[in-house]
Amino acid sequence: MFFQNTLKKRVELNGIGIHNGEMTKVLLSPAPVNTGIVFLPFRTDYLSGIDAHVENLLYTQNAITIGNNGISIQTIEHFMAAFSALDITNLYVLVDGNELPILDGSSREIVNAIENAGIHTQNDFYDIFYIPYPIWIEKKGRYLIALPNDDYKITYTIDFTSKSNAIGTQTAHFNIDKETFIKSIAPARTFGFVEDLKRMKTNNLARGGSMDNALVFTRNKLMNENLRFENECVRHKILDLIGGLSLAGYKMRGHFIAHKSGHRMDMELVKKINKVISRKKRSRGISRHILKRKEVEFQRFLNKMNI
Ligand SMILES: [Zn+2]
Repeated sequence: MFFQNTLKKRVELNGIGIHNGEMTKVLLSPAPVNTGIVFLPFRTDYLSGIDAHVENLLYTQNAITIGNNGISIQTIEHFMAAFSALDITNLYVLVDGNELPILDGSSREIVNAIENAGIHTQNDFYDIFYIPYPIWIEKKGRYLIALPNDDYKITYTIDFTSKSNAIGTQTAHFNIDKETFIKSIAPARTFGFVEDLKRMKTNNLARGGSMDNALVFTRNKLMNENLRFENECVRHKILDLIGGLSLAGYKMRGHFIAHKSGHRMDMELVKKINKVISRKKRSRGISRHILKRKEVEFQRFLNKMNI
């Protein structure tokens, strides 16, 4: 158990939306105990807010979009990662428009804004969810596995050899805590490929995308001046996964092993975890019979994948 937190005061962030290309403003505003993270488009009342929860997930293409009652907010993952890693559990996120600003493509400015505002510890506990048995998603050689663990760990591998030798294969492993996130994950920027960016722009996507807010790769090189980390790309994928996992609505304890995952697969896993959470709430526990069955199924999966 640990305490819920909000901000000491309201803080503002401004920037361009990477997909809609529009300038937008976000206000991170303190919220009472048990509010959760609630997104509120300007010009709506507090009742029509969107809870940052997987049950409100709308799309996973290019970015994570949540919504309900006809309103939606796009590209929430970098904000959610920062809230989750810095243990901000209650917050109103007021958004001017329907997309959060991409800022520099990472969570660095969001972390700075939170630290400038200060964290206010509240007088109630926040629940932790322990992954009870192996849960996984697999598709065409890509996979994302959640294993029981007393810590929150992520091991991630990407392989972009077919798109850019400048990225190639990267693996990173972190024990996710506040300090590690701030120092080693939050500054990692999103990335893309020159040919995709051109194609997306002709289809009216990534309208705000540029080298100011993304690492851009060609077949053989990086177009930006330099990297913040040698393996910045895989670190950014870890950042995205932290943001996605936070939509389960709990502080996570488990070891997450990703092999070529992405927003869609991340959220498929969160949906599965959410089902386990609901079932566990109903039955107040998991039977030995289920644990045994999961173990056998997981072993079969490992054999099939040759892991
Ligand atoms: Zn991202």
